[in-house]
Amino acid sequence: MSGDREHRPLVVMKFGGSSVANPDRMKNVARRIIDKKREGNRCVVVVSAMGDTTDDLIDLSKKINADPPDREMDLLMSAGEQISSALLAMAIQAEGEKAAAFFAPQLGIRTDSVHTKARIVEIDGTRLQKEITNGNIAVCAGFQGLDASNDITTLGRGGSDTTAVALAVALKADVCEVYTDVDGIYTADPRVVPEARKIERIYFDEMLELASLGAKVMMNRSIEFAKKYNIPLHVRSSLNGNAGSWIIEEEETPMMERPIVRAVAADKDQARITAIDLPDVPGVAAKLFGGLAESNINVDMIVQSSSEHEIGKNDIAFTVASTDLKRAVERLKPVLKDLSGGSIVFSDDVAKVSIVGVGMRSHAGVAAKMFKSLAAAGVNIEMISTSEIKVSCIISRSKADEAVRRLHAAFELGRQAPVAAGA
Ligand code: ADP
Ligand code: ASP
Ligand code: MG
Repeated sequence: MSGDREHRPLVVMKFGGSSVANPDRMKNVARRIIDKKREGNRCVVVVSAMGDTTDDLIDLSKKINADPPDREMDLLMSAGEQISSALLAMAIQAEGEKAAAFFAPQLGIRTDSVHTKARIVEIDGTRLQKEITNGNIAVCAGFQGLDASNDITTLGRGGSDTTAVALAVALKADVCEVYTDVDGIYTADPRVVPEARKIERIYFDEMLELASLGAKVMMNRSIEFAKKYNIPLHVRSSLNGNAGSWIIEEEETPMMERPIVRAVAADKDQARITAIDLPDVPGVAAKLFGGLAESNINVDMIVQSSSEHEIGKNDIAFTVASTDLKRAVERLKPVLKDLSGGSIVFSDDVAKVSIVGVGMRSHAGVAAKMFKSLAAAGVNIEMISTSEIKVSCIISRSKADEAVRRLHAAFELGRQAPVAAGA
């Protein structure tokens, strides 16, 4: 191993589906990667499936089997990234650079066995280290891993972000660059709010909330990894050379202004389930949510209230991802039977809108301002949840975009935001 090579910075570059959606974009990405290498970097590339390939594969499966098993879904969906990684390596080779493509069985990425939302448990980077030491650009299929039985798993939608950050951690990369179809992280989804402003620097905790609350520009698990191992992320466009947004650790003495609200997010893939007239005795919530947890269904907001109909009874309302709604309702049926009481109502017509910012910690009245602005827009709030740095409301899905625009305007995010007292 040459001493020279070891000192060259190691960059993990991740390209999302839209960045490699067609052969021209693929070639453009190949040239960017080659430039990076020729600037003196060692490059590990993570690539997503081309364009809408993953959605198309899911649609195809539904035409064959209305309820396809998750294990086979993983094998099917991982094919998208297998194709794009091979093609991207070919595009690099066509420009005269050395590259090699890899998919899950070659990558040393070990996951648990929770098909379609597996978690990475270990990465053996030996093979990739060897490839880059030999001067190859390693092009890795994102989104996938292998479980203990050597079955292919996938990491959940948007999971190539997580592959990239996890590889950056395992290979001790100097930086992880995430190339996408926007210039960086904005104060709201720029497709919904045209006045949204690019954020130069945002903290891991804020980005983690935003990603978990529906800003799909980064997958939340990837931010968890980046925060845990303090890997700064640079999110930028694959279509231009503009500086993007840095996702970084929060400084003790802030180098930048801390706006009260950093950004607004909406998650339209939400469903609300209400278990009505449950017996008001210990252990009911444990049984209800225990059953869902056993089926790997994540529950988000939970609100419990005494029943309006009968004393000694409770209502528990909560939200799940809309893709989990059917399974959740099925799973709850035997639980209610066991509790000998209660019934279920549900709605798939909900969305969660949220405001996020570390400046909220030191500022009162933020939630009230949010509620007031939703009320002024005629938006009914069905559920509320708060944490130190976010406020979320469940509202009707049809009002989600309008609510985001109203909140973005109310907190003046389109221009220089006000600074929190004490920041
Ligand atoms: P990729 O295919 O590169 O992984 P994604 O489609 O997953 O890209 O994420 C990029 C998209 O995220 C953007 O096109 C944008 O519409 C959306 N998005 C949502 N919220 C934000 C935000 N706050 N800032 C930037 N983009 C956002
Ligand atoms: N192709 C996968 C998806 O569409 C993973 C990714 O794009 O990050 O979710
Ligand atoms: Mg994505």
